[in-house]
Amino acid sequence: MAEQSKTGKSVAFVTLGCAKNEVDSEAMLSRLLAAGYEEAVSAEEADVVIVNTCSFIQAATEESIDAILEVAGFDSVVSGEAHLVVAGCMPARYGDDLADELVEASDFVPCADEGSIVETVDNLCGIDRIAGERRAIRSSRGVHSGVSAYVKISDGCDRFCAYCTIPYIRGRYHSFTENEIDSEVQQLVDSGTREIVLIAQDTGRWGQDFDEPSSLADLLSRLSEKYPDTWFRVMYIQPEGVTDELIEAVRVHDNVCSYFDIPFQHCNADILKSMNRKGDAKGFLSLVGKIRERIPDVTLRTTLIAGYPGETDEQFEELCDFVEDADLDYVGVFAYSREEGTRAFGLPDQVDDDEKLHRAQAIRDLADSLSTQRVSRRVGQRIDVLVCGEEEDGQLFGRAKCQAPDVDGVTYVNEGSIGNIVTVLVEDTLAYEMEGSVLS
Ligand code: SF4
Repeated sequence: MAEQSKTGKSVAFVTLGCAKNEVDSEAMLSRLLAAGYEEAVSAEEADVVIVNTCSFIQAATEESIDAILEVAGFDSVVSGEAHLVVAGCMPARYGDDLADELVEASDFVPCADEGSIVETVDNLCGIDRIAGERRAIRSSRGVHSGVSAYVKISDGCDRFCAYCTIPYIRGRYHSFTENEIDSEVQQLVDSGTREIVLIAQDTGRWGQDFDEPSSLADLLSRLSEKYPDTWFRVMYIQPEGVTDELIEAVRVHDNVCSYFDIPFQHCNADILKSMNRKGDAKGFLSLVGKIRERIPDVTLRTTLIAGYPGETDEQFEELCDFVEDADLDYVGVFAYSREEGTRAFGLPDQVDDDEKLHRAQAIRDLADSLSTQRVSRRVGQRIDVLVCGEEEDGQLFGRAKCQAPDVDGVTYVNEGSIGNIVTVLVEDTLAYEMEGSVLS
């Protein structure tokens, strides 16, 4: 998209929630910058503050409301000099009701309308554009680069897990085309990005909704072969999406991180059935075993829910046993959150809140001790590290292929340049962090 003339107005984003929301904020910011807006030095100084909300569980909604109210309290917003826009999941989930509740907001932009963010901000700032400019801005996907960048390969979800609000917020599953994804990757690589993290609500389903179906394995193979100096990593692959072809595509491409993030959510067959999911402990352990057999140095991450309605003491014990038996590298644990509008909301035998928190913490403690042991076994290994940045005291840090951004910790290194990949001898670990000296 051609750069538009400066508007003289500035914008700032406050982003809540997961990496997928970060991607959406970056895409919206990128569109606004291309449309002639500047990024404000701070939210307090911006002409328009966009709070990109998360509301997939109640706690996230509350956090989003706190952030909105904080921005609404800025002198600039109270005086009417600046505008507050509420974007993302909250307007998608609560629709028109939100406007009655949040009168401080000047406008609302649900997920599905984020492509029109420039029009919304233009209206608030009194900027008039010719129609051609508007169309060009709307059709651009928007890319914001860094050493490492997330690329969304699809949006929405068709699985309707009984506890989850995402299909109602984000709509039905739709894959982005390979051309769209490739052109985003190309722009990122051209601007110096060294690691592309492919994300979606359900990455393993990518391509199956096309008239001529394709697969994540094919996409990953083609991208990694076209960009051999770039690391590729995939997050959120539902168990059914871990096909033999995908394991093989990860195994044979050196620049694809040997990393599988598979949200099992539980391991008990009855609980999974009630969740409208498939599988059982035996099947999941066999999948873990198969991946490890084919890729011995693979890193495995999962997400689990504790305290789902009807979860008995025995079923909880089964989940603990599964965590021990699977011995995964990283485990994210959530206490079940009872969300209005979902099927699980009306289920009998809801687990007491304190008990849910207790169970989640017990699994977290167990998983932490297993993860710490697994990370410590890397002492003495030579690993490649992508140097990502430096701390305030000048200490450089990066990430190895076994460390996904934002969730798995970092590796501290003694030398290197940001954006370069260096080979490091791991000398020490502390919980999830590693430390080492650069060999080359
Ligand atoms: S797979 Fe299930 S948990 Fe994940 S977004 Fe879809 S419905 Fe929600």
